[in-house]
Formats: sequence, structure tokens, C-alpha cells
Amino acid sequence: MAPRSQRRRHKKPPSSVAPMIVTPPKVVTPVPPTLSKPGPSIDALGFFSLENNVPGLSQLILQKLNMKSYEEYKLVIDGGIPLSGFGFRCPQEMFQRMEDTFRFCAQCRALPSGLSDSKVLRHCKRCRNVYYCGPECQRSDWPVHKRVCQELRLVAVDRLMEWLLVTGDFVLPSGPWPQRAEVVQSWDTWFSMRGLQLDATLGAVLGSHAMTTLWTSVKRPRPGSDVLQGSLKRLLTDVLSRPLTLGLGLRAFGIDVGKAGGSTVHVVGASHVETFLTRPGDYDELSYMFPGHLGFHVIMIGVDVATGFSQSTSALPLEPGTVQLSSHRGLYHDFWEEQVETGQIAHPDLVVGFHPGFHSSPDLMEAWLPTLLLLRDYKIPTLITVYSHQELAASLQILVDLDIDITAYGANPFTSLKPEQVYSNPNKQPVYCNAYYIMFLGSSCQLDERQLKKKVDDRV
Ligand SMILES: [Zn+2]
Ligand SMILES: [Zn+2]
Repeated sequence: MAPRSQRRRHKKPPSSVAPMIVTPPKVVTPVPPTLSKPGPSIDALGFFSLENNVPGLSQLILQKLNMKSYEEYKLVIDGGIPLSGFGFRCPQEMFQRMEDTFRFCAQCRALPSGLSDSKVLRHCKRCRNVYYCGPECQRSDWPVHKRVCQELRLVAVDRLMEWLLVTGDFVLPSGPWPQRAEVVQSWDTWFSMRGLQLDATLGAVLGSHAMTTLWTSVKRPRPGSDVLQGSLKRLLTDVLSRPLTLGLGLRAFGIDVGKAGGSTVHVVGASHVETFLTRPGDYDELSYMFPGHLGFHVIMIGVDVATGFSQSTSALPLEPGTVQLSSHRGLYHDFWEEQVETGQIAHPDLVVGFHPGFHSSPDLMEAWLPTLLLLRDYKIPTLITVYSHQELAASLQILVDLDIDITAYGANPFTSLKPEQVYSNPNKQPVYCNAYYIMFLGSSCQLDERQLKKKVDDRV
């Protein structure tokens, strides 16, 4: 049984809300589009806080996507189909509608509905990623915008190219690593290792019919091959960042992956970001990172895991050399008490939290506190990631205050290289998923058992 303090309920699920980012729909009609995969999720709180920056924006999004309410939007995010359907007649229309959700003046925040008849919102010609109601607004915004224009140009390309992942026209290179895994310590070595195979894969995608169709559908000039290839590489790092970061944790903690019965990893606070459209093959790279391993069971635990993602958490025997993905919809404490403490699920060898975001609001901190204490008191090797240096500093401070023993932190060699635009505030510096990591293990406080128990009880 977990200590009392750990059994407190989450007031709110620990899903990441900040920063707010909307990436384009990931699914081609008639399959439901979603606004926010694989960027940080927008939950109800986040969705309506779009209003703070751009009044009317949340309504605009719903309207453009043919949705009636946030509930419908959330349903789609969870992998369902809204009652009203989507009603897009063709991919062109869908791309146009998606683009329309970005249409507000980056300077004065005016929406199309707020403009006089003679005015239209035009995008910045360089990045095609922010809009202005007129030359005056564009001119006065330029000193701010010029710092991010270049990077936002990449965002605009990646947003469209992501469709090729969704439709299955861009399949990641796979197969055992031709080099010793220890050599592969960062993207540089990963890319040089996959070298020729990767060139062939990317070449095939660049020459594909799907690529031509994509650029015809969005009705904009197709960028040069080097630009498109750069984009495919960024997308690839975005998909593989999670499994490889997980591997980074296993390595750093020196987890014995040759353990009989295989190893178990819990992804805590998992949401649709980790589970919607995640294919089992996406984690193959983890296998290749640890040749000869005796099996990995990766369990995504969170109240927002997508329906349709494997719900099986029964302890099936793990096949050596394979990765088994499953999910559990619920709070981590409940999962711990119901599944781990009862012995139905193996104790985790590693716990990973992608962008827990507990630094961002008291609500989220309150939600995460029992989990953090549980991980500390049970001395579970844990790795979390954050988006920025600023978030790193804030998160470290919180963990130190909780007497958590931080074993390592720094820039993640397997960060996503795909920039993410802060949706309702387009001129903010784009952020990168899993940019930094923090690893911790147990308590920094050398109290004996009895003192520790008293401390825990006092806190309640
Ligand atoms: Zn304006
Ligand atoms: Zn621009």
C-alpha cells in the first residue's frame, strides 16, 4: 500500500498543457483530423486559454473544423469521430480550413470576422506562417517577427509534410543498427549510421506520387528537394525522440536489459500525444539500441491515452528482442496500487514522463505531487523531459525542494529537431519536444526509514 500522501487523487490529470501548440490535422479525411498531434496537447483549459491571446480563436477553430464544441474536438483528439462528421469535400478543402485556423493578425490579433470588407489577412511572404491585417501591422511587428521568421518557415513546411507520416507514405527506416549501439550517442552518429539506407528511404518519399499530391492539394509552390529532405529528417527525429530518449534513460541508469523476463518502462502522464497514431514499429529503434535485450514492456499510463491504443496491461510473456506497447487509462497512483502493488504488473525498471509540465501551474503541480513522491520514496529510476532551458531550471528547483536526488540533467542528445510553434502567440521562439532531460533517483535526504515516514505523515 502506498503511503497516505501518495493516495491523494489527482485534481486534474497530469497531461501537458504548456506551451500551447497546434500542429495540423494528422489524418486525411474521411478519417478524423486532429489539431494537436504530436505537439503538446491542448486540454480544455489550454484550448479556451487561446482566447487570452486571440479573442475568438477557439470558436474560429471549431467553426473551421466543422465542429460544434470543445467536447467534439476532444473526442477527435481521443481518436473518435464527431457526431457532425467533418464534412470536408476534398483534401484541398481540408488543408484550406486548417490553414484558416492560423488566420489572425499576429500584431493586433484581429480575426477575419473583425475586419472591414476591404481588408484581408495576408501571410508573411517569407515564412507563410503568420498573418497580418495590413502593411502597418506587418511593419510594426517586423522587429519581433524577424527573429523567428526563418524558423517559422520550417514549421510551415513540417506541418504539411507530417501528412505523409499519417498516410503511411513516409515509413521510417528500420532494421538492426549496422554499428555498435554504444557508438550512437546523438543524432549525428545516428544519421551517419543510418546513412545510405536513410538516403534511399528519403529519396523514395521525395519522388513519390504522394509528395506531388500533397503540394498540389495545398496549392503552394513545392519547395526544393533539400528543403523537403530537411523536413523529413526533422519529422523522423520527432517520432524517434521518445523511444530513443527512453533508451537514453535505460543507458544512464545502467538498467540491466538482459534481465530474465524482460524490462518494464512506465510512461507516466501519457496522453494522446504518446498514443494517438503511435505505431508499434515506432519503438523498434529502442530494440536496436539494446541488441540482445530480453524484451521491453512499455506501458503508457494516463487519463488521456487514446482509445484504440492497446489497452492490454496483462503481463504477457515478453519475447526476447521485442518491444511490447500497451496502455492504461487512469491515474498513475491507482495504476500503481491496482496493478503494480498487487503484482499484476512488474515493478518499473524505469519511469519516463514526457513534458510533465508541473512547473507551469499550481494545478498541475498538485496533480503531479503524489506521483513525484511515490517515485522518490520507492526509489524508481525516473527521467522527465522539458521544452526549454527556462522550464529545466524551474523543474529542477521544484525537484530539489522535494528532496529528490537529481542524478543528471542537460540537453537531450535525442531531442526532436522539429520546431513547434506556440500557436496563439506565433512570434514566440519555437520550442522542441524533449529538448532537455532530468533524471532522478530516490531522496537526497539521508533520513532513516522512521524519520522519512514521519516526514511523509507530517506532509499530509
Ligand atoms: Zn493587424
Ligand atoms: Zn515570416
